[in-house]
Amino acid sequence: MLKKIFSPNPFKVFYLVFAYILAFSVWWAYLLYAKNETAYKEKIELNQITFWQIHPGDDYNSSDEYKMVTAKYKRQKLMIETEGSAFIFLLLAGLLAVRRVFMREMQLARQQHNFLLSVTHELKSPLSTVKLSLQTMAMRKLEPEKEEKLIANSLVDIDRLESLVDNILFAAKIERDEPGFSNDEINLSDITQSVVERLAHNKKNIRIHDQVKPGVYLHADPIGYTSVVMNLVENAIKYSEPSTDVTVALTESDGQVFLSVTDSGIGIADSEKGRVFDKFYRVGNEDTRKTKGTGLGLYIVRRFVEIYKGEIGVSDNKPVGSVFKIVLPKV
Ligand code: ADP
Repeated sequence: MLKKIFSPNPFKVFYLVFAYILAFSVWWAYLLYAKNETAYKEKIELNQITFWQIHPGDDYNSSDEYKMVTAKYKRQKLMIETEGSAFIFLLLAGLLAVRRVFMREMQLARQQHNFLLSVTHELKSPLSTVKLSLQTMAMRKLEPEKEEKLIANSLVDIDRLESLVDNILFAAKIERDEPGFSNDEINLSDITQSVVERLAHNKKNIRIHDQVKPGVYLHADPIGYTSVVMNLVENAIKYSEPSTDVTVALTESDGQVFLSVTDSGIGIADSEKGRVFDKFYRVGNEDTRKTKGTGLGLYIVRRFVEIYKGEIGVSDNKPVGSVFKIVLPKV
């Protein structure tokens, strides 16, 4: 109970403080307004009596003094109205700006929490499997086929661990403005094809169609480009039903290189399309999500494309799935 009182919802506190400031300002504006109104009426009444004593029978409303007092009153009224509205407008704009920053920070904190949860899980599960396999082999002599199977499975798990660690290290490196990339001319076609070949024998039996034009070159970092293709194709496999198709296409024209990865998977809702490239962002919630991941893959892809002054986009595939497209300028 005490904990609840002393750790209130920050949003509620924020809105409460804002409502208080707003109510306070409106109240003061109203008081000023009313005071100006009363002061004007009293001044007019007083001046009218003095005026009639000096100019009996004359119309006070057409006197210079009446016009002067009325003009001053109107000026003050306008001042209260404009300054009051400007203040409320600025207050609202400030509220929206602070709220946006607040929401962004909260989302980042949630994503970092999700990231930690998934990384912990992704590190722990292959480690446990490898440990169990080694313990089994150490404890008793197994038949050669069984031993081979355990070793093969352990190698797959170690590969998984390696690619996870590589992605984390690469995400840290690519975050810098100058990531120290090599800028030699590389054969994108060869790299793309080798990634396709590596992922062709996947557990989900997804067919990867290679539409790679041979001999496409670019001045870029080979490790970075490999990671881009790897992340896109791995995602296409991960977010698709078994035995579906994925197409990887690479072409070039007018001094630009075009890479696309098309799948027939679960697709990405329009509201999520702009966010999937954010660091740690994963669609859905860590507790309910079935797929494994860290939310770093598409962030790496986006940063690589930014560094090489290219463009990236995702659209819907027809009838289902997603198409990720990258355009990279050759110079
Ligand atoms: P993750 O490690 O979660 O795969 P990514 O940065 O690679 O992280 O992708 C971010 C999110 O974008 C994923 O969690 C997933 O929700 C969505 N996503 C990425 N690729 C695809 C795809 N081909 N089809 C559907 N959703 C995708």
